[in-house]
Amino acid sequence: MLKGKTALVTGSTSGIGFAIAKALAQQGAHIVLNGFGDADTPKAQIEALGVRAEYHGADMSKPDQIEDMMKFAASKFGRVDILVNNAGIQHVAKVEDFPTERWDAILAINLTSAFHTTRLAIPAMREANWGRIINVASAHGLVASAQKSAYVAAKHGIVGLTKSVALETATTGVTCNAISPGWVLTALVQKQIDDRAAREGISALQAQNELLGEKQPSLQFTTVEQLGGLAVFLSSPAADQVRGVAWAMDGGWTAQ
Ligand code: NAD
Repeated sequence: MLKGKTALVTGSTSGIGFAIAKALAQQGAHIVLNGFGDADTPKAQIEALGVRAEYHGADMSKPDQIEDMMKFAASKFGRVDILVNNAGIQHVAKVEDFPTERWDAILAINLTSAFHTTRLAIPAMREANWGRIINVASAHGLVASAQKSAYVAAKHGIVGLTKSVALETATTGVTCNAISPGWVLTALVQKQIDDRAAREGISALQAQNELLGEKQPSLQFTTVEQLGGLAVFLSSPAADQVRGVAWAMDGGWTAQ
């Protein structure tokens, strides 16, 4: 379905980003990977699906590096057809104790980076009259939790950015939507489980069950493969008129 298209997924060396990259590659899209850590293994896994893969290690908190990544993608593939803004970090602390440099980093990586990639990707999408911008928000883009002020502010912000961009592109073949996962068992959440287990003197499994019990009525994690499936749907012709939504995939979290 996506043969000949190019998808750039930020923060795709692990977790949700890698799963979305894989799902799009399975539909035939070439992939530009980004993120920290080992890039060779994810790149080889994408190439094994029969598409081209390139990697750029831009730090999403650095606008000049983001510009460089977008130029790199255009030089390798002509343009970015599908932009997935996924890179994100978390920090948990009360607002009065929140380290100001963590606030700045979360806003820069989880929100401002998407402004930069979007503004740089849109002109070529408009020219082609086709494009998909998929922002990985969160249940925390729709509702809040205590001790996550920066993350909640950034994720609410990206839902707002999604709606504005969707309106600006409404008469074109470019769509912009957000995906709002609940708990997904990735490195980002494993750290919160481990911290909770240590704090409360309980096992990791107990901490995991508490985490789900508090927020996610299905009591099951959303899987990265399910999120990959949603990104494929949003990239399909069936989603041509899906514009400006923040699509929850959260086991009922935000239905409460
Ligand atoms: P993860 O830690 O497994 O992956 C994060 C990715 O972002 C990694 O590839 C990492 O290298 C990259 N990254 C981090 N800082 C970066 C930077 N400065 N520049 C470039 N890349 C950077 O976490 P994940 O759970 O897969 O999270 C992916 C996205 O999903 C995030 O935006 C997160 O907020 C969102 N999300 C996660 C959950 C969850 O339960 N895991 C729920 C809702 C939303």
